[in-house]
Amino acid sequence: MLGSAMSVSSGVSSIRRVAIFGGTHGNELTGVFLVKHWLKHAGEIARSGMEVRPFITNPNAVEKCVRYVDTDLNRVFDNQGLGLQNKVKIPYEITRAQEINSIFGPKGSKDAYDVILDLHNTTSKMGATLILEDSNDDFTIQMFHYIQKSMAPVHCSVLLIEHPKVKYATTRSIAKHPVGIEVGPQPQGVIRADILEKMRRIIIYALDFMQQFNEGSEFPPCSIEVFKVLEKTAYPRNENGELTAIIHENLQDQDWRALNPGDPMFITMDGKVIPYEGEHTVYPTFVNEAAYYEKNEAFVKTQKMTLSAQSVQCKSL
Ligand SMILES: [Zn+2]
Repeated sequence: MLGSAMSVSSGVSSIRRVAIFGGTHGNELTGVFLVKHWLKHAGEIARSGMEVRPFITNPNAVEKCVRYVDTDLNRVFDNQGLGLQNKVKIPYEITRAQEINSIFGPKGSKDAYDVILDLHNTTSKMGATLILEDSNDDFTIQMFHYIQKSMAPVHCSVLLIEHPKVKYATTRSIAKHPVGIEVGPQPQGVIRADILEKMRRIIIYALDFMQQFNEGSEFPPCSIEVFKVLEKTAYPRNENGELTAIIHENLQDQDWRALNPGDPMFITMDGKVIPYEGEHTVYPTFVNEAAYYEKNEAFVKTQKMTLSAQSVQCKSL
């Protein structure tokens, strides 16, 4: 979890190939607008010595302005999805995942892209959020530290989705350094200028960090606060699968804030409060996310912790 007390530089090769993914979910419009813009006007994201490639990952879902056509593209980048073949009807997103893996991967190989920035929106009040997949990825932790400093006073939370049982198999996971960027609240199918501006700045700072890294800057050891995924909390439902309670107003919009044992969590239509009955304080996020009703997730519980990274410096100048 924590780096050693000694400062040992992690040698990481220079960053040569970066992809910016928009439209992994077709109704999350900030990434769709930014990527479509950059496909025509690449100047803002161009960096010398680096290929920076904007890419619409799920064009059919973007055209229909839906999250996906057949299945969630952001959950199929595992051996099962990427290896599926010769079936009568392969879901569109599985075929698409295999195409994406052949262009930007193969996942886990030395030919995979160095960094993928995957752009998402949430209907939850999470603000600007960076998603980390690996607590040992010092390079990405250093990048997040740089972005947080650059974004201040706008706060940038970090969600760590490393979990022994919950596997996400995200689209960006084919890269050596996967970066999820999740900005909200923004309704599905809606584009807001304030949200767009935050996401745009995060991407520019991420590219600035990579450029400085390639030019030989040494980034000293650092620590960041992260919220690590513990478990998902389901909605209360009846035998017909219908919701019997909704998110309590005290929890609504309270992403990243402490939820203590006994605090209100849900409320039924006749006003009965269902409290949180866990033993420990947790930090909910993705509270009342619209896309997660179908996944039966009311919110995700996290724990707050500190992650340290060793210094990083490019080893191939
Ligand atoms: Zn998304």
